[in-house]
Amino acid sequence: GKKAYQFMLRTKNPSGIVPNRLYLVMDELADKYGIGTLRLTTRQTFQLHGVLKTDLKTVMSSIIHNLGSTLGACGDVNRNVLAPAAPFKTTEYMHATELSTKIASLLAPQAGAYYDIWVDGEKITQDEPEDVTLARNDNSHGTNFEDSPEPIYGIQFLPRKFKIAITVPGDNSVDVLTNDIGIVVVSDEHGEVEGYNLYVGGGMGRTHRNEATFPRLADQLGFVSKDDILYVVKAIVATQRDYGRRDDRRMSRMKYVVEEWGIDKFRTVVEQYFGKKIQPFKDIPEFKFQSYLGWHEQGDGHLFFGVHVENGRIKGEAKKVLREVIEKYSLNVRITPNQNMILCDVRPSWRPRITKALAAVGLVSPRYVDPLNVTAMACPALPLCPLAIAEAERGAPDILKRIRNLFEKVRLKSTESLVVRITGCPNGCARPYMAELGLVGDGPNSYQIYLGGSPNQTRLAESFMERVKLDKLESVLEPLFYMWKSQRQVGESFGDFSFRQGFGALKTYIENYTEP
Ligand code: SF4
Repeated sequence: GKKAYQFMLRTKNPSGIVPNRLYLVMDELADKYGIGTLRLTTRQTFQLHGVLKTDLKTVMSSIIHNLGSTLGACGDVNRNVLAPAAPFKTTEYMHATELSTKIASLLAPQAGAYYDIWVDGEKITQDEPEDVTLARNDNSHGTNFEDSPEPIYGIQFLPRKFKIAITVPGDNSVDVLTNDIGIVVVSDEHGEVEGYNLYVGGGMGRTHRNEATFPRLADQLGFVSKDDILYVVKAIVATQRDYGRRDDRRMSRMKYVVEEWGIDKFRTVVEQYFGKKIQPFKDIPEFKFQSYLGWHEQGDGHLFFGVHVENGRIKGEAKKVLREVIEKYSLNVRITPNQNMILCDVRPSWRPRITKALAAVGLVSPRYVDPLNVTAMACPALPLCPLAIAEAERGAPDILKRIRNLFEKVRLKSTESLVVRITGCPNGCARPYMAELGLVGDGPNSYQIYLGGSPNQTRLAESFMERVKLDKLESVLEPLFYMWKSQRQVGESFGDFSFRQGFGALKTYIENYTEP
């Protein structure tokens, strides 16, 4: 018979913004053309799995006609731009959101083919702020290809995918250091946005048994003032476009350019395209991980509610009830970089009814969500991702339960937690190299264990052990948890503890461990 080709389709949602109408359409498309579930991704987008080739055009045009897009969600271009999903109405948060849509627009592919294919060339007006058009067309320092329909990308596009995240001081809900460009909004003493701190050269992906590939934290590039941001982003993209390796896809992310050159040379080259000096990085407060679960004030009289979505998969009764609530109250939605969802613009008077509806399907207390599950992430892996060599999403609930059982066994409190991230291959979509405990599939039912990341995702984890069979996890984790419990400093997280001890000491402890 004829093979029924199935597609995975990913949307583009800067800052995870999902207008009410788009949510309702995605929910319907998942039932009609997908596998009946909606998957929220670690880049604040939707993935629909299982769309048949014959349905692709219908699905794409529905998305485009309902305020959505998939343009630039895949391929060697700038991917979805992250920014905090919390709809706080403060200057900095609103600014981060606005900037994410501007950068998404600046770096969107320009050629008309996309609309020709999916909506028969119909002009879908996408308003673009004037400063974005100006910045894209500016060629004063040789960033652009003249006379190309793609002034920034040219005909070759970028060597590889490109990732940008924006945040505000203190908020690391976006894993800012794992991106090609990380941008932090910096305000002056009057609370006005003054400019931006920039990080460059982060990235998670690596290849097993290829030592030349590695996860990398972004370095501090410096500070630029407010009006320069689109120009400096373009200059950085042009640097990667012209100097990123194109001969080996495994070595083609910008992090390898930054690593090879060092940050000072990298800055000098960017400055040539930018046409100005980049200023020294400004002091900013330490980052914290933020989950935004539960009820919060937006700051404009409305509330928002962060819904914990296990592994980012919306399905079954929960999917039905979420849809009903979102439809009934015309709520806008945002997707968080932790695969959760935020219901925005809730009137305080609606709160009791919404709480009740969501609680009935286990989406709020009184049902207890284990703190381990709140911070955990897993990628889709088997059976949905062709690169997967081990389980991630499907195996995660059980792995988290086993970790909780070990906590009980070594008598750690039920409120204790740590950041667990699991992926089915070293590509690292769920950012396991930033976890306190990262599990990276390296064979069927077998994982590399990464330790030493910090709870606020500012220190890289390192490979602690390889080829640990899934059913042997306890033999490694039980001694480690016992050691943490008995030798930690007051309040010390598991990641900080493993980092302070060093891997030699941890391994010796495991070898000599006998059950308490
Ligand atoms: Fe697929 Fe690997 Fe990404 Fe998981 S980490 S979704 S297995 S590519």
